[in-house]
Amino acid sequence: MIVLKGLRVYLGVVRLPILMYHYVRPLSQRLSANHKVLDLKDFRRQLSDLSQEHYFVSGTSVRSLTFDSPTNSRRPVWLTFDDGYLDHFQFVLPELLSHGAVGSFFIPTKAIFERTLLDVNKVHILLSANITAAQLIEHMREMYETNSGEVATGSSFNELRSTYGVANSLNDPDTRFIKTMLQQALPNEIRQLIIRKLFDEHIQREESAFVDEMYMTPDQVKQLHGYGMNIGSHGHEHSRFEYMSIESQRNEMEISLNYLRSLGIEDASSVMCYPHGSFNRSAKRVVSEFGCEVAVSTKAAVANLASNDTDWLELPRIDTKFFDKFMIGEFD
Ligand SMILES: [Zn+2]
Repeated sequence: MIVLKGLRVYLGVVRLPILMYHYVRPLSQRLSANHKVLDLKDFRRQLSDLSQEHYFVSGTSVRSLTFDSPTNSRRPVWLTFDDGYLDHFQFVLPELLSHGAVGSFFIPTKAIFERTLLDVNKVHILLSANITAAQLIEHMREMYETNSGEVATGSSFNELRSTYGVANSLNDPDTRFIKTMLQQALPNEIRQLIIRKLFDEHIQREESAFVDEMYMTPDQVKQLHGYGMNIGSHGHEHSRFEYMSIESQRNEMEISLNYLRSLGIEDASSVMCYPHGSFNRSAKRVVSEFGCEVAVSTKAAVANLASNDTDWLELPRIDTKFFDKFMIGEFD
């Protein structure tokens, strides 16, 4: 590694860590002890730690980062916040402002503008509810079997259980199984049906009450932008681009950008974030047709910029859950 005019450069490549955040709130405001959030005080600590060695860049300036700017010894870092959570307005914005920092906020427009709860958030709420993972799984099994799940997927429930019920660095086997089944593995129709039934049966509260607690309002998104924050699309329905037709991909971009532009955010198309980090070649083509210059995924790595093979439409990000590993250089 050599340091050239202040940037950390590896054989001519500028390294840009892009950090990914979801819920950021005081622990006391979690839905329950099972609700995975970044504690606000840890977020503050992260900002202070980052300020020592880094300067904060926004998505709109990433493409113009050069070896010459700035000339201090600090390195760039890009903070990104997904899903339009109210946390970002209520807790993140004041901290960013007080640290002189900026960030990018990726908005799933259906949730924010049409006030509906995203499936991904219904699953978080279910996992935070007063029901065990084992009970949820048994209920899923029942519905899978009564709704001919095996015909739809070609696999029995037990087969899926052994395929997807494997722990990873973030989840125990049961949680991983529930998340994978309900966010990804099951075909859309049965997946949505199971989520809806689980939610109706186990959550004794109106969806609209969660919506107001969970997400920013359009006006708050507009205010974030007014404070100099970068706002980008996170799709309309927060669905996986990888599994959509090119027409649906275009539709997702068009609807979400129209909503964001209706707030006066003219540069809404320049930076985007694929929901669930899911994209393919046609998704990249579509986002660039809409004027997108930078798109981020969820591949865990530090981005290499200024290298000939930099793919600006699939930059990797590091989940803040791995912040400490990132700080000790594990992603270098
Ligand atoms: Zn998301």
